[in-house]
Amino acid sequence: MNRYKLWIDGTSVDPSSGQWLDSFDPSNGKKWAEIPRANAVDASLAVAAAERAMKGDWGTSSASERGRLMRSIADVITRNAEELCVLETRDNGKLLSEMHGQIRYISDYWHYFAGLADKIEGAVVPMQNTSLLAFTRHVPVGVVAALTAWNSPLMFFTIKCAPALAAGCAVVVKPSEFASVSSLAVAALTKEAGLPDGVINVVTGLGSEVGSPLVEHPDVAAVSFTGSDATGLKVYEAAARGMKRVHLELGGKSPNIVFEDADLKLAAAGAVTGIFSAAGQMCTAGSRLLVQNSIKEAFTAELLSLARKVKVGSPLDLDTQMGPIATEPQYRKVLEYIDIAKAEGATCALGGAAVEVGGEGKGQFVAPTIFTDVTNEMRIAQEEVFGPVLSVIGFEDEVDAVKIANDIDFGLAAGVWTRDIGRGLRMSQALDAGTVWINTYRAYSYALPFGGTKRSGIGRESGIEAVHEFLETKSVMISTA
Ligand code: NAD
Repeated sequence: MNRYKLWIDGTSVDPSSGQWLDSFDPSNGKKWAEIPRANAVDASLAVAAAERAMKGDWGTSSASERGRLMRSIADVITRNAEELCVLETRDNGKLLSEMHGQIRYISDYWHYFAGLADKIEGAVVPMQNTSLLAFTRHVPVGVVAALTAWNSPLMFFTIKCAPALAAGCAVVVKPSEFASVSSLAVAALTKEAGLPDGVINVVTGLGSEVGSPLVEHPDVAAVSFTGSDATGLKVYEAAARGMKRVHLELGGKSPNIVFEDADLKLAAAGAVTGIFSAAGQMCTAGSRLLVQNSIKEAFTAELLSLARKVKVGSPLDLDTQMGPIATEPQYRKVLEYIDIAKAEGATCALGGAAVEVGGEGKGQFVAPTIFTDVTNEMRIAQEEVFGPVLSVIGFEDEVDAVKIANDIDFGLAAGVWTRDIGRGLRMSQALDAGTVWINTYRAYSYALPFGGTKRSGIGRESGIEAVHEFLETKSVMISTA
């Protein structure tokens, strides 16, 4: 059994409550670790450490030095890659094979933002009063609270910390209580990389006990949140009371739209990976598959034949294609949504039940599930399931596709499959989504902004825009008269 500690001010410390929470392996339901149950006292200690770092060595270091330290974090992650991958797989059931790719991307992510650290430039601005010399400079916003979800904690740690550090901020991370271990482990590695104490801190525990006090802490200047829209709204309201900068990455119900002129084999493969990768536990899951009516029958047959081949199994086996649902409440939620879809009259064309893997019956596995005859007003088409459940919806033409795709509260991502590039571009303009993929799905880059519209969030991660989420612009005027 592994008992973990909080990471505050460059040191592992016990939680002030003296209590720990159990962490379970989703592939067999067994307890495998204990994470600290932190509270407001620990949140305050972590924020104070971050404040000291910003007023001390970190705050006074040059941007180039910050970049150098961030490159060193990338390297230490690479050296410890396998250990971090296995921790993540044990903690939230993410496929080990997927983690092997993700950890290389995480290291690249740190390198990209390390490169941006000393390229954050202000501007000299011409004034109407010519005796004034005026310029802008970008300064760190202050201490950042980063609250993250359970589906990709190492990735979220990186996505939030790398741009915040490039901006010169210090961070307190609060990972999900369901998957905190990798964030604690990687934070400790930053010390080995030479990062000054207090620049990155990690407090773990429940949202109500440590997340909420962290958001409300008066010395936190910005809140960066990844999670559900319901919690996001609470965080937004609490942060607003403190007049803090807020950045929200929330849920999605993304349309993946297949036109009759698409490469249908490619589109079917894109639809399958768009929903069954990570067992559908992706904010960008292409969970609404919109198929043009003229090809619906043939395309659904192709889709089903591919989906039947998806291999469900232990996330540690390198040939497994779909692992377990990461948390027990989420597992129950996915099964409930399957019942809801059946009760609404959707046809269950594939799966539609839990599956047993490993013979012990304790793993949280759900079969790849496809519902046909879904209409866009059904709950299964409107609400985020966050599991391996696909809804197939027919449409007549381009206008109809846009209408159905946009008739939803979310606006995170969308996919379009067509050989007509004009149509692809028209769709990319018409769709309410922060990201539109054409003839691909689930492609990401640290260099390209990512985020949502409508209830999917506010602000952007990745790319230079991510650094600006953590900067204030200061204007300076000098009289030359
Ligand atoms: P969640 O909203 O339940 O929890 C997210 C985090 O907020 C956790 O760390 C939790 O402890 C904390 N929290 C809970 N209550 C809080 C409060 N009152 N104050 C402060 N913090 C609080 O989300 P989840 O179930 O962990 O994650 C799944 C959701 O995340 C899905 O909706 C998914 O779409 C979304 N998500 C979005 C993105 C994106 O980039 N847009 C990425 C991944 C996941």
